[in-house]
Amino acid sequence: MRISVAAGETLFREGDPPGPAYLIEKGAVEITATRDGARMVLGTLGGGDLLGEMALIDQAPRTASATALEECALLVIDRSQIAERLAQADPIIRALLEGQLKRYRGALAVMQGQAPAEDGAPDAAELLGIGKIRLEAQLREALNQRALDLRLQPLLDIPRGSVGGYEALIRWTHPERGPVSPAEFIALAEETSLIVPVGEYVLDGACSALTTFHRQGGAQLPFIAINVSARQLAEERLIDRIVARTEAAGLPHAAVKVEITESQALDYPVVKAVIARCHEHGIQVALDDFGTGYSNLGHLHELGFDTVKVDQSFARTMLKSPRAMAIVRAIVTMVHDLGADVVVEGIETEEQLAVLRELGCRYAQGYLIGKPQPIEELLALPA
Ligand code: C2E
Ligand code: CA
Ligand code: CA
Repeated sequence: MRISVAAGETLFREGDPPGPAYLIEKGAVEITATRDGARMVLGTLGGGDLLGEMALIDQAPRTASATALEECALLVIDRSQIAERLAQADPIIRALLEGQLKRYRGALAVMQGQAPAEDGAPDAAELLGIGKIRLEAQLREALNQRALDLRLQPLLDIPRGSVGGYEALIRWTHPERGPVSPAEFIALAEETSLIVPVGEYVLDGACSALTTFHRQGGAQLPFIAINVSARQLAEERLIDRIVARTEAAGLPHAAVKVEITESQALDYPVVKAVIARCHEHGIQVALDDFGTGYSNLGHLHELGFDTVKVDQSFARTMLKSPRAMAIVRAIVTMVHDLGADVVVEGIETEEQLAVLRELGCRYAQGYLIGKPQPIEELLALPA
């Protein structure tokens, strides 16, 4: 809604209940506050400036008055227009914004000779934002102190009847909270570029584990699959680093596999380029958590994944419902026809493993085969 305001007219006064904000299209508005009964000019706003927007953020009473200096044309900005965006905003940004606003209002109150407002209890959104800021800082510290640990979960090579390789899964034991799920801290790290050093940490750990396996000199060197998030894919140096790290350790490039999660809205051209570069170096790429995210079959034929990992939710339901089993069977057939291997995740029972054998799946992963374990424990197992 567009309104016009005559010169000298007041839009709102100090102490008024919260109301809409305005975008000045034409004209000038003076912002004033009272101090010891005297009128004090805080500023003059003109075309393109926002006015009264603080109330949209914190719904507190007006802390200043706004008076048109000349005839003004204003667009009225309703709270609902901002509220939705605010609700969707990153909690960290919201906490910063709300914190700044509180401080500004407090400073204004002091300047006006009032007692500073009681610092009210932070609301849920603010606590969430502050909590994330704290967790992220602690995660950075854990990374610097190399305090994250890597667990390896075995993948059974079904036709060979032995462990073909491992998936590297990261763990963080928080100093106060105890173990924090990677589902929580990886998501946090993915929101910023922090995921990049986390990924490098995992790669370094995987290469050192591979070196240990290599020295043990088993019949066949197992592979280690590392999880790579969408944000890391855009980083040129990821593949270079895999190549450099494996070469420095005297390992074949193929000892490292890359897992890309389907649930991240995949940027197909980027993924395609990453797969091509991996293949140049003999590194295999798996599509993770297949069947849970976008399952964009329209693109699957263009992406030359070497392996498709069927999400563990299918293992859980396939023996309970013939319809779920029909889907698993169809996925396995389709993936084989595309020339890729199938891993089914979350295998916890012999019955589930028997199904995979019958369907001709290459790999099984899950607690039946083994839980994610530190490498020292794996080395202590009978070969
Ligand atoms: P994911 O890649 O799908 O990893 C498999 C998850 O399933 C792991 O959880 C594993 O512990 C769990 N799992 C394996 N077998 C079974 C089973 O038989 N039953 C059940 N109920 N669960 C099983 P985890 O370790 O909590 O990891 C969760 C997710 O965190 C991973 O899902 C992966 O997306 C992410 N993640 C873990 N480590 C990394 C990492 O180093 N980098 C990145 N980018 N993401 C990681
Ligand atoms: Ca994975
Ligand atoms: Ca998975």
